[in-house]
Amino acid sequence: MAEQTPHIADRFERRGILFIVSSPSGAGKSTIARKLLEAEPELEMSVSATTRDPRPGEVDGKDYHFVSLDRFREIVAANDFLEWAHVFGHRYGTPKAPVDQALSEGRDVLFDIDWQGAQQLYQQAGGDVVRIFIFPPSMSELERRLRARRTDSDEVIAGRMARAAGEISHWDGYDYVLVNDDVEACFNHVRTILHAERLKRSRQTRLIGFVRSLIKGG
Ligand code: 5GP
Repeated sequence: MAEQTPHIADRFERRGILFIVSSPSGAGKSTIARKLLEAEPELEMSVSATTRDPRPGEVDGKDYHFVSLDRFREIVAANDFLEWAHVFGHRYGTPKAPVDQALSEGRDVLFDIDWQGAQQLYQQAGGDVVRIFIFPPSMSELERRLRARRTDSDEVIAGRMARAAGEISHWDGYDYVLVNDDVEACFNHVRTILHAERLKRSRQTRLIGFVRSLIKGG
């Protein structure tokens, strides 16, 4: 019998969510994104295009699509980015087609983009967008984490620290803000938000027919 009476969220088709998680680099966002993708089969990652060089260990097509400035400009001209922005002196953009595809197949899409990207996606897709900002517990802890990664020079780290304060100042452009002082707890909060957002009435696309038949006594 249980199979015939699933929870309401499973009974109705729902609109896919554009799930944005932003934070200064080093605040733990990529660990949380990885754990979320492992735990949530209906969620897929949006792979951005960037003009910056790959870091050691980064894989083209998986971490980013690494493209030339000319290629990036072509994609912009063809209107094939959902959004794009200048970040750290490079360009970053979200390819449109994979997002449209995922949403049309009823899956949610996870975005690791900055506040400029969050703002642009919100302007375009409003009610389908959920925006989370993750704070580091303190600036000294953020710097410690950046140094522990051992991927960036002192100069790059200083640049990231300077930029972190700027990014944090856009916290009020987000629906949820979390502090990552414990990665497991923070991950659990992010997952809870995703689950609750999936249950929102506005995302259930077949409710009216169901309610009508309930009222008729069906
Ligand atoms: P990183 O170079 O450390 O991978 O990323 C630098 C910043 O660019 C991060 O804050 C990341 O969220 C942001 N970013 C990555 N991809 C995109 C994108 O497609 N659009 C926007 N607006 N920001 C992005």
